[in-house]
Amino acid sequence: DRQKHIRNFSIVAHIDHGKSTLADRILELTDTISKREMQDQVLDSMDLERERGITIKLNAVELHYQAKDGETYIFHLIDTPGHVDFTYEVSRSLAACEGAVLVVDAAQGVEAQTLANVYLAIDDDLEIVPVINKIDLPSAEPEKVRKEIEDDIGIDAEDAVLASAKAGIGIEELLEQIVNKVPAPEGDLDAPLKALVFDSVYDDYRGVVLSVRIHEGIVRPGDKIRLMNSGSEYEVTEVGVNSPKPLARDFLMAGDVGYITASIKDIQDTRVGDTVTNAKRPAEKALAGYREMNPMVYAGIYPTDNAKFTDLREALEKLKLNDAALEFEAESSQALGFGFRCGFLGLLHMDVVQERLEREFNLDLITTAPSVTYHVLMTDGTERDVENPAEMPEASSIKEIHEPYVKAQIMVPNDYVGAVMELAQRKRGEFDTMEYLDNNRVNVVYHIPLSEIIFDFFDKLKSNTRGYASLDYEIDGYRASDLVKIDILLNGDKVDALSFIAHRDFAPARGREIAAKLKTIIPRQNFEIPVQATIGAKVIARTNIKAYRKDVTAHLYGGDRTRRMKLLEKQKAGKKRMKAVGRVEIPQEAFMAVLKTD
Ligand code: GDP
Ligand code: MG
Repeated sequence: DRQKHIRNFSIVAHIDHGKSTLADRILELTDTISKREMQDQVLDSMDLERERGITIKLNAVELHYQAKDGETYIFHLIDTPGHVDFTYEVSRSLAACEGAVLVVDAAQGVEAQTLANVYLAIDDDLEIVPVINKIDLPSAEPEKVRKEIEDDIGIDAEDAVLASAKAGIGIEELLEQIVNKVPAPEGDLDAPLKALVFDSVYDDYRGVVLSVRIHEGIVRPGDKIRLMNSGSEYEVTEVGVNSPKPLARDFLMAGDVGYITASIKDIQDTRVGDTVTNAKRPAEKALAGYREMNPMVYAGIYPTDNAKFTDLREALEKLKLNDAALEFEAESSQALGFGFRCGFLGLLHMDVVQERLEREFNLDLITTAPSVTYHVLMTDGTERDVENPAEMPEASSIKEIHEPYVKAQIMVPNDYVGAVMELAQRKRGEFDTMEYLDNNRVNVVYHIPLSEIIFDFFDKLKSNTRGYASLDYEIDGYRASDLVKIDILLNGDKVDALSFIAHRDFAPARGREIAAKLKTIIPRQNFEIPVQATIGAKVIARTNIKAYRKDVTAHLYGGDRTRRMKLLEKQKAGKKRMKAVGRVEIPQEAFMAVLKTD
């Protein structure tokens, strides 16, 4: 009977359409959080999420709702990120649910990630509950958006809830619809335990905390459990739910979404997607789990202090528990020493990983410019994958280089189609199709090299369309391209971590831009530093970083004291993320210089 009263649902949307704010209102209305404890986007509990105003991690909470039919329902709500780099979090959340609340901004309408996320939910056969949010905005056009939902997504939006998460309008109606439309979970309580691990996190005191959806059976503290893929066994110390703080329970049963702890200290044993069963009475077959994600971009991460290599390894292992899409492998660089080549789902993901490593594990890191994986056909007939530009073989031994392309869907108002096409063309894009969604919106499809997307495509797209365009992309195979490796020499020494790959036609210009950029980024030292960009033995650009004449602050002696202090402080702050390569001190920005040009 308890099972009939459970409703498991995720909230999905394009970024900024109001998922987290809607979750706030739901938590409030169900008294899950008192007014005193309430803060905006309360489920975005990471500092990083709060500072950036985005959701990075899925978040599952249990709440209780007294419905109009007089019954009390148990809701498991999972808030999810909207950004394309975190789609893996969304897909895992959906697998734990029977329903999905689809939030669409009444002023913005259906956007690229609205479609991408709702299709994931439709693929999982979830019941979709549409919500048109932000109806309080003067620019809101709820009826137009209702039609967009029906035409673009192809679901019935006649009953779509008209809501304002900000003003607290429509929340109760939404909760009623969740009760009435989202099916209760099924699953045999008497069958052997089957629980799917959809997330995990390392806690210094409790060990690994597993987030699970129970599909069959019951789990209690004291039970002996087995992780079916790894085969390792543990005794359950605690089961419970987040509400939103952890709340221990006597049991979790089929249909529940909650957590299990079992003093799991061995990180290698746990994997998102694994099935937890009872060791004494095991299930026969594990649940399907998740498909592995393939990283889209790679970058080197190095400790600024070489002695911290082991700490970095441990931090990456722990972070991976909470970030199933992260991959890493040890590598070394002549310039940077020992570190890791890490794989990410995109640039935002990469940025978030670096920040989390620094904050949560107290490390100082240097990240090299991101790169894609190239398939290289050698003249001797062999093939190899190159994830690090520095490892690109000699040009003379290469027959052909293939690079990943994406199929990019760009949704944009009519007026900006020209600007989008011009940009895509400039980024070596190949036109596919263009489709009018209605009188004012167009879906433009291009095939574009992934490396160009990484480079600065998204920033340019946003600035060329005054923020109106939205982008979604998926890998669509490899194509041969005329690519070359460009090396950077400082003071005559090649700095392997600064090497990058570019299209031959753009190489000379890129080489010049980067040499000029490095000149402004690398601080002057007491000797002159020649900066060169080369392709093989050929120098394509050269400049010099002049030596400073004397102590930078010397001429300020006795003069403006505060100015002198400021200058010294600035130097100190700049010191932190520096790496000495040979005799030259290189700041972190230098490694990213290849990414940002105009
Ligand atoms: P998410 O990225 O989908 O989680 O979106 P957030 O919940 O973080 O909201 C994005 C922005 O939209 C925030 O500045 C919210 O205050 C704002 N917002 C959310 N819901 C509403 C609403 O109903 N009306 C208005 N005017 N603003 C809203
Ligand atoms: Mg959010």
